[in-house]
Amino acid sequence: MKKKQIVFFIVYSILLLGLVEQSIAAPTIVVPSKIEDGVPFFVKVEDTTPISVIVVWRDKQYVMTPLNENGKQVSVGMFALPVDTPAGKHLLRLTINGQERTYTLQSTKRTYRTQNLNVQQTYVVPPQKEMARINKDLAERKAIFSTNSATRMWTEKGWVRPAEGILTSPFGARRVYNGQPRNPHNALDFKAAVGDPIRAVAPGKVLFASNQYFTGNTIYIDHGQGVITGYAHLSKINVKRGDVIKAGQIIGLAGATGRVTGPHLHFTMHSYGTAVDPTHLLEQ
Ligand SMILES: [Zn+2]
Repeated sequence: MKKKQIVFFIVYSILLLGLVEQSIAAPTIVVPSKIEDGVPFFVKVEDTTPISVIVVWRDKQYVMTPLNENGKQVSVGMFALPVDTPAGKHLLRLTINGQERTYTLQSTKRTYRTQNLNVQQTYVVPPQKEMARINKDLAERKAIFSTNSATRMWTEKGWVRPAEGILTSPFGARRVYNGQPRNPHNALDFKAAVGDPIRAVAPGKVLFASNQYFTGNTIYIDHGQGVITGYAHLSKINVKRGDVIKAGQIIGLAGATGRVTGPHLHFTMHSYGTAVDPTHLLEQ
């Protein structure tokens, strides 16, 4: 080949490669580089055709089934570091159609404030006769929080506020009851009067609609792909286990049942068994 021909061949090849690149568009991948303990983050893969997406996070593997959202095939997963995880680097492995990529996420540690509360002494040091029930409640909650249904019913945006009132207690507050330190408040408290409507934050299926010692009348909803929400201290429960719920549906009424200082909604969110702070999701 003459020099001119070689140059033409190279230029032509580069142009052709460019065209091929355009016709087989790569999926859009969103993985955050900075995260905080207790704050949920999303891993998102978008493509024009259905894709297989597997995430390995903190030594566990999660399958993200794509759903059609506005004409695109969207796989999205919610992940988090447990509250109080020290600052550091965390690896996230993403396998798309068999091709593995590794991401390093840098976490910072949030500071959580201390809150002093006064409640009935039976809720600080429960009577011996209640211990069997408290342990049963705990086992029930463990099973609820580790539920991982394959079909995602939630979307990254569009979470509904569960109660209209203001936030009275932030996520992660260090709780001291009648002078005795107890578990951190891995929940949000909303101001509410007895009888105020309580709404499901996203579509889902009722996992639990009954009474527990500390949380009183309580509802847990499975939103699919490891996301579970909880609504506690209700005066009335309007749903039963197995009911399919729409986003924003009234599932019960606010109350003051269980360990409370007064009527309010105690709202929790778990992602694959880890309690997460839903504040920024509800503020979207
Ligand atoms: Zn609470």
